[in-house]
Amino acid sequence: SMFVAGSMGSFPELYANIQKALGASERVLEILDEVPEKVDTTADSKIIKQPITGAISFKHVAFSYPTRPDIKTLKDISFEAHAGDKIAIVGPSGTGKSTLASLILQFYKPDAGLICYDQKPASDYSLSDIRNQVAIVPQDVLLFGGTIRENIAYGKLDAEAEEIIEAAKRANAHSYIMQFPEGYDTLVGERGVKLSGGQRQRIAIARALLKDPAILILDEATSSLDSESERQVQLALEELMKNRTSIIIAHRLSTIYDADKIIVVNEGVVSESGTHNELVQLENGLYKHLYQLQSNAKVDA
Ligand code: ADP
Ligand code: MG
Repeated sequence: SMFVAGSMGSFPELYANIQKALGASERVLEILDEVPEKVDTTADSKIIKQPITGAISFKHVAFSYPTRPDIKTLKDISFEAHAGDKIAIVGPSGTGKSTLASLILQFYKPDAGLICYDQKPASDYSLSDIRNQVAIVPQDVLLFGGTIRENIAYGKLDAEAEEIIEAAKRANAHSYIMQFPEGYDTLVGERGVKLSGGQRQRIAIARALLKDPAILILDEATSSLDSESERQVQLALEELMKNRTSIIIAHRLSTIYDADKIIVVNEGVVSESGTHNELVQLENGLYKHLYQLQSNAKVDA
């Protein structure tokens, strides 16, 4: 079933609202999953129910938002990531990068084409199988009203206290959390303390570390931070990216020079793909252009 976004605007907002909405339906799914079924060996059982190891591919994916069917946001997107790859997605703003992330998370279904996890189409899996194996760290992390502990544990509801602290340490969040008198029991959100963008992001990273997904999406995760929090968050992100497939939607190209593959999305299609060294050699290439703009900006600064 499709989630209708209604009047919601930004992706992070949409994400937070969907997370809220899903809370209930995922629990329903889990209960449904537990209902013992008679095994019918003659029927081809549709739901595979197996772990995803992290390979992901888009095959000629097209997509329009249900509220704007006239606009083809994604026209034809194909790419492949092997398990463990670091894949970067770059391109002008408004070109569909965050939309692509929400398709990986199955917030929407493509109008055409296929998204495969471990070479099998999304329809072979249950929604919770996929969501359990994909985590996202968005640009603006929204925390729900509750304690820091609860916000981290949201990645794994049955987490032990020590696991939560371990994840926060690896996310570079433990020491600032311990500076609050209430520590992990500090309330955040509207009625609690106000955390900086970088502090909220490190909570989201701890949440993702605890969840330990096969696929991680970073959607411009450091682009709104000052340089000190960016360094702190970048270190935490590197820890988070270890041993899993990472899809990095990058604003600052310097964070993705070492990507296994860079996919340039422009006007709903993949206009270029390759390594940094390959793409900077493409004459009149969009990547080369963006790279030169950022290099010049650095010289001017
Ligand atoms: P990017 O991440 O590359 O900046 P987005 O994927 O956020 O681009 O947006 C691509 C296009 O889709 C934009 O024109 C944007 O306005 C539109 N868009 C994004 N989210 C929605 C939504 N929930 N409903 C309708 N249109 C949307
Ligand atoms: Mg975006």
